[in-house]
Amino acid sequence: MSLESNNGISIQKVETSKIASVDFENLKFGSVFTDHMLVCHYKDGKWGQVEIKPYGPMSFAPSTNVFHYGQAIFEGMKAYKDANEDVWLFRPRENWARFNKSAERMAMPHIDEERFVDGLKALINLDRDWVKQGEGNALYIRPFMIGTHEGVVAGPSSEFMFCIICSPARTYYSGKVKVQIAEHYSRAANGGVGYTKCSGNYAGQFYPTKLAQEAGYQQVIWTDDATHTKLEEAGTMNVFFRIGDTLITAPTSERILDGVTRKSLLDIAKSKGINVEVKSIVVQDLIDAHAKGELKEIFGAGTAVTVGQIEGFAFQEKYYQLPEVSDDNSFAIQLKTGLQGIQQKKIEDTFGWTEKI
Ligand SMILES: *Cc1c(COP(=O)(O)O)cnc(C)c1O
Repeated sequence: MSLESNNGISIQKVETSKIASVDFENLKFGSVFTDHMLVCHYKDGKWGQVEIKPYGPMSFAPSTNVFHYGQAIFEGMKAYKDANEDVWLFRPRENWARFNKSAERMAMPHIDEERFVDGLKALINLDRDWVKQGEGNALYIRPFMIGTHEGVVAGPSSEFMFCIICSPARTYYSGKVKVQIAEHYSRAANGGVGYTKCSGNYAGQFYPTKLAQEAGYQQVIWTDDATHTKLEEAGTMNVFFRIGDTLITAPTSERILDGVTRKSLLDIAKSKGINVEVKSIVVQDLIDAHAKGELKEIFGAGTAVTVGQIEGFAFQEKYYQLPEVSDDNSFAIQLKTGLQGIQQKKIEDTFGWTEKI
């Protein structure tokens, strides 16, 4: 292994890359990781040196904070390779800022932009062969932070580990999904942690999602915890509705995560002249619009799939199927094509969202 230093980042390279053993045509999302990872430790009130080293297992004492009190947050973002072999990140500083928002709420330290963004760029640069060109290909990037203090005292950790791992990903068209509108369970509550990407938000969703799946739906549309009438998110994605020719999504709040895909789609929609309304929408609005034939599309928005189309929803034991909308007339498809075109550098990025590595 060779040790190099670059901008104060220590780099320890693998002896042999495992890339030759990876079948890039048949990738299962999030199951293969690149040769290297980034690690940085927080101790005595400050972050230490950023280290890039071979991806591999880590060892922690059984009493480590994260195993008991769950101080854990993460981010999800992607890198793309264009036709000139240049590698691009999409709005990475949005993820950095949101990471710190999550950190704040979970009583974890902020991390500086240099360690997060410059460290990330050094890591991707080293593993750039893992970013493949072409439609649907990307490198999924997973920054995360955990409390690493040892001892089972119920209190915030005084030591933390920041880490970034990367996984080559291909987005396939996975078809439209059927969703169930939540009437009992909640993903988030006022005063809670719904707006953060803390790991526990996901753990709490698995059980109600499993129940929905057993009833024949792939995902849950989360409603507000107080009345279960306001439509807030779809699974782990923000959610959009098209009624007539108006695109509607709920405003972000303490309960709704401020998605980078959501805000990018809103800007793209406006630039295409689509009428956009950011307002709270309730189940009855949806049912009324469906009855009048005005409810045309519902879709989720998030980094992993960009846009995930929904074909129908269930509410109080009744299922409502959406009409067929051709790809040419679909807001979901137009917006997805617009966003992916910018990300893959096929459409000019007039918003200044892409950053070259
Ligand atoms: C990550 C996430 C999203 C999507 O955010 P993006 O920045 O678009 O990937 C939406 N909702 C929840 C609950 C999330 O955790």
